[in-house]
Order: sequence, then structure tokens, then C-alpha cells
Amino acid sequence: MRDLSEGTRFLSLNTATLRGQWDLRQTIDGIARAGIPGISPWRDQLQAMGLAAAAQAIRSHGLAVTGLCRGGMFTSFDRAGLARALDDNRRAVDEAAALGARCLVLVAGGLAPGSRDIAAARALVGDGIAALLPHARACGVPLAIEPLHPMYAADRACINTLKQANDLCDRLGDGVGVAVDVYHLWWDPDLAREIARAGAARRILAFHICDWLVPTTDLLLDRGMMGDGVIDLRRIRGWVEAAGYDGFCEVEIFSKENWWKRPGEEVIATCIERYHRVC
Ligand code: ZN
Repeated sequence: MRDLSEGTRFLSLNTATLRGQWDLRQTIDGIARAGIPGISPWRDQLQAMGLAAAAQAIRSHGLAVTGLCRGGMFTSFDRAGLARALDDNRRAVDEAAALGARCLVLVAGGLAPGSRDIAAARALVGDGIAALLPHARACGVPLAIEPLHPMYAADRACINTLKQANDLCDRLGDGVGVAVDVYHLWWDPDLAREIARAGAARRILAFHICDWLVPTTDLLLDRGMMGDGVIDLRRIRGWVEAAGYDGFCEVEIFSKENWWKRPGEEVIATCIERYHRVC
């Protein structure tokens, strides 16, 4: 574990955490005001603000862009759909390059509508990333495969464990790594081993934190603030750092009924306090 005296030097805020109350410009300003040095924006917010304006605002505050959310969604079963997905992903790579983002986060995509063939969906994800990789490599943008909790396998991501993501990376070669998100992976009995494996390959590109609430009342929009749930954050962060990851801890909290309803300053202050106390 790194020395806690380093303060917020390795803290980043995913803009989804403040999506309920602030637009991207307000979020950039709020993060900078609080002395948080990292940000990870979402593409719809970038488009709303304008890519050039957002890049300029982020640069003017000297913020590190710890990731761009998100590309992926490769599991369309017809050729036209796949071509559209690839086009959109190439644009996402270009946006990540314009921002100087440390990675483009990829969410794989779930089953195609009407399909029951999850093996076919997983094969398409591999094909999709392979097709995107040459452009990503040319632009110098690492692709971060983010495994999602299996409850999203049908509709968002059929890559559900870090082992699956590591196996994919082994097949795909340079330019692709993983995003380790505690919300999606905390339950996995193989997590320590797969984090070590990812670290040995120097492929941990991002580390996302929040907490798992009991009970969870919404599959997507009820993530907890660090310390309010059951995830052993400090242990997992220890594994990630022992594996050689020296990047940021990125707070990513989708919380429609709680944190999105509070003043942005309060959310940020709580993130900082919990980061020091429980992460
Ligand atoms: Zn995440």
C-alpha cells in the first residue's frame, strides 16, 4: 500500500458520480476546486459540452484523464450493426486521444436481442476488439476491458470476470488491458490471483472504486459510497498496488436516489474523506 500522506494525489472522479446534479463543465470545475487531480468523463457529456471545450477546460486545470467512458458494445449479430459499433469505437479512440486519456474503457456488450448464445456474444467481443486495436495502437490509446458483474451479462457485458478479460488480453496482444472495478469483481474467488496475473502483464489500466450496498435496490443505479457497503476496499487496493499498479483510484458511483440528489460539493467532500478512511 502506498503512503496515505500522499493525500489525494492519486484520486480521480468518474463524472458519472455527479451526473445527477452537475454537467461536465460544473464537474470539471468542482473537481479542480476540491484539489482532486484526476477525472474520467463520459462520452455523452463530452458531446454535450463539445470535445474541444472539454479538453481545454480539463487541460486548464491540469487534470489527468484517467479514462474515457466508454467504448465497446460489440455484440451486434449483423454485419451492419458490427460496422456501426466499430465506427463509433474508432471515434471514441479519437476522443480519448484528444483528451490525452490514459485508456478507453470498453464495456463488452451483452446478448443480441432475441439471442440465447452467450458463447457467440463472447466470440464477437474478441473479434470487435481485435478489429479496433490497430486504430487504438496507431493513436496510442490503450483499450481497457472492464469486466462487469454477471447480473449484466444479458444486456451490457458478457465479459464478467477478470479471468475472462485476462484471457482475452493474452489473445489480443499489445495495446489492450483491463479496468478493475471493485463493484463488478469483489465477489470473485479468483480475484487476487487474476489481479496478480494482470499486474504481471502490466495491463491494469484503471482501478474503479465504490461500494456494494446490502440490500441493493437497483441493479444499475444504486451503487454505494466507499465504506457504506460490504466490499473490502483496502484489501483489493492492496492487491492491485502489490501487482504493480501505480495509477489512480477512480471513484465511480451511480446513485440515483441518494448521491445524485445531494449537493455536488458534499459528494466530493465525502469521496475524499472516505478515500482516506476506508480505501
Ligand atoms: Zn467502472
